[in-house]
Amino acid sequence: MSATESPVAALADGGRPNSTTALSLAESKQLGNHELCIERGLKTFREVGAALIAIRDQRLYRAEFKSFEAYCQERWGWTRRRADMLIEATTTADMIENNCSHRPANEAQTRPLAAVPKKSRAEVWEQAVQTAPLDKHGAPKITAKHVAETVQTWQEDEPPPDGDGDMFDHLEQVVPTEARDAFLDVEHIDHAIGCVKAAANAAKHVANSKAGGFFDLKQFRALMRQAQRLLDATRPFAICPACQGRRCEACRQTGAVPQEALAAAKSPAPAA
Ligand SMILES: [Zn+2]
Repeated sequence: MSATESPVAALADGGRPNSTTALSLAESKQLGNHELCIERGLKTFREVGAALIAIRDQRLYRAEFKSFEAYCQERWGWTRRRADMLIEATTTADMIENNCSHRPANEAQTRPLAAVPKKSRAEVWEQAVQTAPLDKHGAPKITAKHVAETVQTWQEDEPPPDGDGDMFDHLEQVVPTEARDAFLDVEHIDHAIGCVKAAANAAKHVANSKAGGFFDLKQFRALMRQAQRLLDATRPFAICPACQGRRCEACRQTGAVPQEALAAAKSPAPAA
């Protein structure tokens, strides 16, 4: 891996080896090819994240899939958590690009930064750049391990502001303390949705077996779909746009709204 990391660092630095170490024609061609690969990789991880954000926020999955989770799982074989990590890596990289001298080269380098509140990510990344060991061209060798160590040091120096750091909704907004309880349920609801899906799948096997003659698969699956819709409708997706998560009538004093309610709340409300 270090073979790919040093050219990135040199690239991002804008630094060139001095003229006494000039490259031969063949070497600079090689470098060009390597850099092309890196550029592609660099673009890819951020393009993937940006694409996922667009698909999620515009609900472009909706024609074929019930939810963004289902889309990620069935279309790409990713858990929601995996998709969230890719999205997180992209937003972190965007933030860093606007504030720091060196850009992250891959998702792995940005991953440790997810543990840092957003407003401090660029600062911690810059610390990682400054403290990274140098390669033979004098450019920092930024590895995922080094970033993780920098994050750890930073966390030790800087106790999180309110106990366990910022919590974010699906729109990357900070969840205020009042709405945190609602978002703690997401994991349980996701688990319940997983159970419903597993039950629906298991029922297929029963229906296809000898005993299946007495089993109304159609009705069973309709019930499961209904259960899934109900769970989706209660799953906290974003902080309530009406009260910014401070709890109000519109969000039934939870501070959180499910995805469908969010779409409704965003479109102009009919005159009361
Ligand atoms: Zn509200």
